[in-house]
Amino acid sequence: MEDCRIRYLVDYAADPFFVHNLSGQLMEVNQEACSCLGYDRDEILSSNIEQLDAAQDGTLRQLWSRLSPGEPHNYIGALKHRDGSQIPVEIRLELYHKNSQPLVLAMARRLFDAQPPVKTMNRDREVLKALVENLPHYVFWKDQNSVYQGCNSHFARIAGVASPDDILGKTDFDLAWTREEAEFFRQRDREVIQLGLPLMGVEQTQHQASGKTATLRLTKVPLTNDEGDIDGVLGIFENITKQKQTQDRLHLLSQYDSLTGLPNQTLFRDRTEQALARASRLKETVAVLTLDLDRFNTINNTLGRAVGDELLKVITARLSGMLRADDTIAKMGGDSFTLLLPTIRQSDDAPRVAAKLLESLAQPFRIQGQDLYLSASVGIALYPSDGQDAETLVRNASTALNQAKEQGRNSYRLYAPAMNSRALGRMNLENDLYRALERDEFILNFQPQIETKNGTLIGAEALVRWMHPIRGLVSPVEFIPLAEETGVIVPLGEWVLRQSCRQARVWLDSGWPAIRISVNLAARQLREGNFPALVKSILEEENLPASCLGLEITESGIMEDVDAAIDALKEIKALGVHLSIDDFGTGYSSLSYLKRFPVDMVKIDRSFVMDITSEKDDAAIVSAVIAMAETLSLKVLAEGVETSEQLEFLRARNCHKIQGYFISKPLAADDFGAFYQRHKCAINGDTAVCSFQL
Ligand code: C2E
Ligand code: MG
Ligand code: MG
Repeated sequence: MEDCRIRYLVDYAADPFFVHNLSGQLMEVNQEACSCLGYDRDEILSSNIEQLDAAQDGTLRQLWSRLSPGEPHNYIGALKHRDGSQIPVEIRLELYHKNSQPLVLAMARRLFDAQPPVKTMNRDREVLKALVENLPHYVFWKDQNSVYQGCNSHFARIAGVASPDDILGKTDFDLAWTREEAEFFRQRDREVIQLGLPLMGVEQTQHQASGKTATLRLTKVPLTNDEGDIDGVLGIFENITKQKQTQDRLHLLSQYDSLTGLPNQTLFRDRTEQALARASRLKETVAVLTLDLDRFNTINNTLGRAVGDELLKVITARLSGMLRADDTIAKMGGDSFTLLLPTIRQSDDAPRVAAKLLESLAQPFRIQGQDLYLSASVGIALYPSDGQDAETLVRNASTALNQAKEQGRNSYRLYAPAMNSRALGRMNLENDLYRALERDEFILNFQPQIETKNGTLIGAEALVRWMHPIRGLVSPVEFIPLAEETGVIVPLGEWVLRQSCRQARVWLDSGWPAIRISVNLAARQLREGNFPALVKSILEEENLPASCLGLEITESGIMEDVDAAIDALKEIKALGVHLSIDDFGTGYSSLSYLKRFPVDMVKIDRSFVMDITSEKDDAAIVSAVIAMAETLSLKVLAEGVETSEQLEFLRARNCHKIQGYFISKPLAADDFGAFYQRHKCAINGDTAVCSFQL
């Protein structure tokens, strides 16, 4: 795309254009360059720009090799025509990058071949008059008081006088320009006359008689009389409006960040607009990401700018390596980047890329022999939901970026109404979940489990809670499924297991009889890694007898891969760990399977217990489950017992154990201790006997 534009600009330009590489080899020229120098395009393209330079003294090469992007340099010299003649030119050299290759754009402007100071035009008057009249430029001359003495027809037209003769005796204040412009011109005349030096190539915007404004390039040279005294000014104006537009456009196109070589903001916007136009046609989604390095300033301040610069280059390389060919990464300012992902298939593709980028930046950077650790924050905005144009998207992505920074660094955020709020909340929650473990935001609650017949405390179920720094307490019902989906459940589950064993050990050490802590197990934990080995090593490390640990797994958890799950459960059971089926009745509840599961207990789901005293069906189901468990020699625990009526019902049907608000809500470890003390407890073997008035 960029190429087509340059091609267009080059052909459009009225001046000779050359594009060459840093060895001077010509890569591109326009028609004007060929006709100006009398060569075919192919002939020119097989040569070096230095061969076309009349001086051939190496100055040109020196100039271009010192160029930096965005800082063009002008050079006055001459080009060599094929026939040997010299064409005086002013060449503007500008460095830009194409596909990371540095190229030089040389724009030549033919100069009026006059050698100042010029003698008053009294000789060969006719020749000069014809020349002046036929030049494509605006030509005029004034006396030492800036009073016009003559001009060519071009000039008369823009000055707003009927013919060149009518200009005689007028000053700039009588012509088409504004007062400020007239003042500017008179000031330049004074400088030329007082200093006796020509003024070359000053650019000036000017109002013309037609009402339009034009950009002019002024050349003014002092005129001397026969005695050698300066008595006037000869001026040549060149209308460079089009050339200026061309240059401005090229300038935009050639703007790259000089340190990293990445496109800068302007080019980024250009590409984004193009991607949006395409996406709007094809009804696609585009993502704009802003990425900001966290605490980069600290590195700059403590290790110095050189290290900072070096680091930015390495970061650039690393980030670029993570992207696809049609993605764009651009440099915004000091330590921020913007990314354009022009073809996003699903709305969660962008967060995935963001997570990938953050992950790659988390690896240390080796700079000057030392390892530097970095993190970044990312904001994401999506087209079309978060904005219709590049500017809005970048702005909204930056808003999201700021949120990411506020909520703790090293994370990404989607701009608020990017998706429906549930998906958004989920996405952000998922991101937070990754770091919640590191930040120690999880806590465990313990809910007592009681023997129905005598109220003996037999154990507690460990239930995890998440203290989110902003949202407060988040229910496991909300985050456990997410943790399972993302895999966070594996380290989280390990933490719960270890923490539960540690707590059980603390209670044992404080003289309590052995009670069993039951830990909920997600299917994924059973599938990933060697879970039985993990259980074994945690029990050893925490020095806890296996009988003090229970695991609860749902039927559906086992059913994901029945044989593997059964094998793993057998191994765990062999360690002496107690196993139960959680939420029984809500899953497959297949008796034939249940027979194969190496479990000790079934836990009847709360949804059946809730209505046992009012719903006949539920009462029947609960009675059947208790009877079935009896047949299979399994213990039964009823969950969610809230009333004494429910308890009575269960006790009458010989349900062994209960758990529920009727006994206690889940409690923090300290409160569980207090609960234990509050009830009169006696020791019976290694079971805590804590009698309730049931
Ligand atoms: P669950 O294993 O069936 O846990 C029982 C849930 O019922 C707990 O909810 C508990 O607070 C609640 N509950 C207990 N008694 C009563 C009652 O009398 N009335 C009412 N209304 N509710 C009662 P919680 O703590 O919100 O946990 C919900 C689920 O989250 C758990 O269901 C379990 O599936 C999962 N979960 C909790 N902690 C963990 C964990 O560490 N790992 C895994 N994988 N899952 C966990
Ligand atoms: Mg449970
Ligand atoms: Mg349950």
